[in-house]
Amino acid sequence: MRLSRSKKLVLLGVALVMVGLAGRASADETPSAAPSPAPSSAAPLPPAAKKPKPKPKPATVKPAAHKPSGPAGSRMTTGSKAVALTFDDGPDPAQTPKILKLLAQNHTKATFCLVGKNVQKHPELVRKIVAGGHTLCNHTWSHDLKLGKKSPAKIKADLARTNAAIRKAAPNAKIKYFRAPGGNFTPGVVAVAKQLGMTSLYWRVDPRDWDHPKGETHAQHRARVIARVERNTHAGAIVLSHDYAQPDTIAAYRTLLPWLRKRYKLVGL
Ligand SMILES: [Zn+2]
Repeated sequence: MRLSRSKKLVLLGVALVMVGLAGRASADETPSAAPSPAPSSAAPLPPAAKKPKPKPKPATVKPAAHKPSGPAGSRMTTGSKAVALTFDDGPDPAQTPKILKLLAQNHTKATFCLVGKNVQKHPELVRKIVAGGHTLCNHTWSHDLKLGKKSPAKIKADLARTNAAIRKAAPNAKIKYFRAPGGNFTPGVVAVAKQLGMTSLYWRVDPRDWDHPKGETHAQHRARVIARVERNTHAGAIVLSHDYAQPDTIAAYRTLLPWLRKRYKLVGL
């Protein structure tokens, strides 16, 4: 009697557990059921959910130094652990001599992305840049942000005119790089630059020194540029800055150059 009674209880218990399980299983399969925190029962989900997991890993694990390229295959890293500083939009008679002096004091080479019109106005500054052992980069004739969308013939005319002005200022100067204004690289502009012997040069770090938010003081601007470069620069980075009409950028580099030199090898590209 006792045995059969306990057997009954066991059976009842088993039955209750099974009903419970069946209820859970059906709840899990019901589309309207709230998602259960444990996704163990959702058979079709795990493969789909797991798939993207290993994919982002290489992207996040890969350090900046190994990221292959920027827009349209442009270069965004130095290819080594060294960091490269680039100064755009000049030459500027007020700012370029200042950054050249700072770079010389810090025994540092950089890359200058020159605007043809400014080259024509200040050829002596191009010669000064070359004499300092820095690298030259073509930044279009008049900083045309939409050049990449124009015909290959128009692109070629613009880049060739800019190179001719640079070479008129500094004969035999090597112009290794091209940087599209705004970083607006297109396959078309990259192809023409390559035809003319120039590698398209993007960047990894943009401290937005060109941006002047309303109400930002000069001191705040300098502090922002310094903080962004210090925070975002890693081995292999190409850093974008401007030597044209950006006095606070130049002032920021008084702090940044010694800071960067302590941590990285700085190279002209
Ligand atoms: Zn520019």
